[in-house]
Amino acid sequence: MIQKIKGTMDIMPNETPLFRYIEGIMREEAEKYGYGEIRTPTFENTELFVRGVGDTTDVVQKEMYTFQDRDEGRSISLRPEGTASVARAIIENGKCSDTMPLKYYYIISCFRHEKPQAGRSREFFQFGTEMFGSENPASDATAISLAAAVIRRLGLKNVKLHINSIGCKECRPAYRSALVSHFEKYKDKLCDTCKTRLDKNPLRLLDCKNPDCHEIATLAPKTTEHLCESCEAKFDMLKKSLDAMGIEYVVDSSIVRGLDYYTGAVFEFIAEGIGAQSTVCGGGRYDGLVESLGGPKLSGIGFGMGLTRIILAMKEQGLDNIPSEAPSLYVAALGEAAQIKALEISERLRRAGKICECDIVGRSLKAQMKYANKIGAKYTLIIGESEIEAGRAQLRNMQDGTQSEVQLDSFVI
Ligand code: ATP
Ligand code: MG
Repeated sequence: MIQKIKGTMDIMPNETPLFRYIEGIMREEAEKYGYGEIRTPTFENTELFVRGVGDTTDVVQKEMYTFQDRDEGRSISLRPEGTASVARAIIENGKCSDTMPLKYYYIISCFRHEKPQAGRSREFFQFGTEMFGSENPASDATAISLAAAVIRRLGLKNVKLHINSIGCKECRPAYRSALVSHFEKYKDKLCDTCKTRLDKNPLRLLDCKNPDCHEIATLAPKTTEHLCESCEAKFDMLKKSLDAMGIEYVVDSSIVRGLDYYTGAVFEFIAEGIGAQSTVCGGGRYDGLVESLGGPKLSGIGFGMGLTRIILAMKEQGLDNIPSEAPSLYVAALGEAAQIKALEISERLRRAGKICECDIVGRSLKAQMKYANKIGAKYTLIIGESEIEAGRAQLRNMQDGTQSEVQLDSFVI
């Protein structure tokens, strides 16, 4: 037996209605805000993620699915996230000189070689949005409110918005030194990963899940106390805007985000009751990204929302029962002529927009009726030789058991 790859999933037809329902809400909400759907390739040159996501990140160092392209020998990676590809696409498609802001959304699968567990898989599904061309905190508030709108429309409760500002090129260096001197004092107690992060990416020490590191992190200096004037003013404006929009939040200095391109405002939506992988949505501002990929200086703000974690939260809160549309009609047939008639009727009704099935296995009448029940058909029609001869049959309403006579060639339901 060949099995699926560890950390991937089969989404069977009993689950897809829930996915489609959620995706529908994501699309509708994004389009209300004027975001357009973008589709970029599933794989890209590895260099894009090394430069875009950052070569010191876990994603690039440990988690990417990277391989040599067969004929050209260059290094290719399956996308571990969506932002770098969108930034590349706007540069490549000449959008950087268009009217700003540019707003894109996507629903994609991403690939990361992580340890599979509840809410963490190796192929995962993400709703992402990216906005380019505004440094104004009104754009941060807009992006955050879009994520909040999706969560609200899904009916999710107990999902808290955590916001922080991690500063810019101006204020980050001083904060970085303050952070390094703090952690240096506890160097012996840090986990091995954090010991290497201390040189390369000290901000990441703040969100290490190791209990010892976490405790040391709670004593660390806070980014929000080291912001330059401009970052502080922007963060204040963001808070005021969220207040005005009626979006609740907490300021949380442990939110630093995993990828290198973030600057300024960062945020996460965290769900209670779904275990350790509780960040259902994460995002922030990435003002240096487009430039670092060879484009002009163009600021950006976006987020990624994990569908499987949203579904875990929906299940936890009993919100996952999405009714799927029941078939309108099942046509049961006895004998060859009736089977052909059943195909003909089914085809006519489907062309009229109905969901319709008939026997295509050649089962007994009893087995056919059992099948009609199983699929939950609203009506059934039974046809045999005498019905074909008369051109009429009894249409049975499966909900109330009533029957009415219909003309085989013209009836509608
Ligand atoms: P985490 O802190 O959980 O590792 P991250 O910071 O690596 O997340 P992002 O790259 O910002 O995550 O991705 C955005 C969202 O995508 C996350 O908030 C989460 O909902 C989802 N996500 C990320 N990685 C996975 C994964 N391996 N499996 C399932 N969902 C994921
Ligand atoms: Mg991660």
